[in-house]
Amino acid sequence: MFVSVTTHRLDLVEMISDPETRVCVPLNEKTVRALLSAIASVPETADMIELRLDGLEPSQIQTATSELRNLVGTSSRPFVLTFRPLEQGGYRAITAKERQAFWEKQFDLEGVFFDLEGDLVQELTTRDADAQPDWSRVICSHHDFSGVPNSLEELYEQMAFTPARILKLAVKANDVVDCLIVFNLLDLARNDGREIIAIAMGEAGVITRILGPSRGSFLTYGALEVDRGTAPGQVVASDLESVYHIEHIDRETIITGLVGSPVSHSVSPHMHNSAFREAAINGVYLPLEVRNLGQFFKRMVTPRTRELDWNLRGLSITAPHKTEVMNYLDWIEPRAQKIGAVNTVLLENEQLRGYNTDAEGLIGPLIQRMGSIAGSRAAVIGAGGAASAAVFALLEQKVDVCVYARDSEKAQALCQRFNISSEPLQSSFAGKDIVINATPLGSLGAQAAETPAIANQLRDVRLAYDLVYNPIETRFLLEAREAGCQVLGGLEMLVAQAKLQFKIWTNTNASSELMYAAGSSALSKTFSRD
Ligand code: NAP
Repeated sequence: MFVSVTTHRLDLVEMISDPETRVCVPLNEKTVRALLSAIASVPETADMIELRLDGLEPSQIQTATSELRNLVGTSSRPFVLTFRPLEQGGYRAITAKERQAFWEKQFDLEGVFFDLEGDLVQELTTRDADAQPDWSRVICSHHDFSGVPNSLEELYEQMAFTPARILKLAVKANDVVDCLIVFNLLDLARNDGREIIAIAMGEAGVITRILGPSRGSFLTYGALEVDRGTAPGQVVASDLESVYHIEHIDRETIITGLVGSPVSHSVSPHMHNSAFREAAINGVYLPLEVRNLGQFFKRMVTPRTRELDWNLRGLSITAPHKTEVMNYLDWIEPRAQKIGAVNTVLLENEQLRGYNTDAEGLIGPLIQRMGSIAGSRAAVIGAGGAASAAVFALLEQKVDVCVYARDSEKAQALCQRFNISSEPLQSSFAGKDIVINATPLGSLGAQAAETPAIANQLRDVRLAYDLVYNPIETRFLLEAREAGCQVLGGLEMLVAQAKLQFKIWTNTNASSELMYAAGSSALSKTFSRD
């Protein structure tokens, strides 16, 4: 007979301030000293702390066990103890004997949850009742770091048959549609009256970490700091609160997000979510790591076919999907048709409507800086999506435009569409008023030291505009300053196009200053590491 969950329940959950949205910070340190210091730095907003004791050096386990007794008595938040063997996602090899000896010393500890893998749970249920843990504090867990097993629901059924109070299933999402099965599991468990933590790991699974609690997940894990997560895709705990406002997300929340691949380093969630907060709109903007756009639209977006019940309102579309997305929409505004790219989708009255805010977002800051640009001469470097939006926007302002690109065929294709001319990339920009970098040269990472033009090529140019925004200060802008040009950075455009998107989705004007501050602060804090 299993021990009854209700009669033995030590309601640790009462210790948690927000019963709806619980954030648990997992800690993984090699020494007890480091672990204690990490515990002290867990933000106040976190509700629970997971101690990944399998991360400790083996010589530290004894000390950890005795320290734990002091800790649990003084902590205002419950701990989750985890001692995972390597083959189930742990940090080191743990023998069956070591695992058994470890847990036998912990089960009389009050004030903690025990995260026990499914095999251990099965084994414990065969023991005498007094050798079993308090099942009301057991999380029965299963992890799959490679993908989503076909048998996930079967696995859930097996785990639901154990006396563990909480079930945890963590799988690896390789595309955003893999999140669907995780959301289904949450529904299934709710219907069964079971408490569950269901997570899709990896960048493509981030939305399960942010929306999970609002869809019934017992908790969500948030990393202590960037690069200190214990599983792929973990969002920093303080960002769950300060960027995503997770405690306010419910089933009514308007969902918007950035569709692309990769999207994990985007600053758009920082900008849009701060705008939602400022406008007091119950909305959230999510990073949606989408590889197969057709599947994403069919299974998660298109109202007639989607499998997810969510209050989806709008999408930003970024590389590599800005052209392909046009195949899945009910209506596309004429200017997006002309540019050949959609970067904004609105869901309204069961219809999908496509817009392009890049062109207007690009030209707005330029006109603000230079006044009227009609009759001036501009060079656009690059022949991709951003270049196309730039050419369109400049022609609308009656600017004389010339494209400079390394691939002459692509340059010609772009020029033919707009009936303009092109030049080879190495040319000088003498005689131009405006030079726009619409290539990724100068972006953080391997291309950071590169520039599409050096100072000598930019002499006498009035303004150099870099569409690259990360970093804010690029080599191209440095070269332009040296040549005596005025400069404009890509964050100005990013903000302007985001502001237009926000207006399309919410009919509300976001503050440019607020969005710029959110974007630049995110760029300087989080993204300058790469
Ligand atoms: P895209 O469609 O991939 O086009 C990139 C263009 O840059 C292509 O013409 C490409 O040439 C060229 N290019 C790439 N590497 C190059 C190199 N090493 N030397 C010379 N040319 C090179 O990308 P996109 O969407 O247009 O974006 C371009 C840049 O603008 C990105 O950095 C993006 O982040 C930025 N952007 C900023 C904003 C904003 O709001 N600030 C908005 C959109 C885009 P090939 O075709 O020969 O590869």
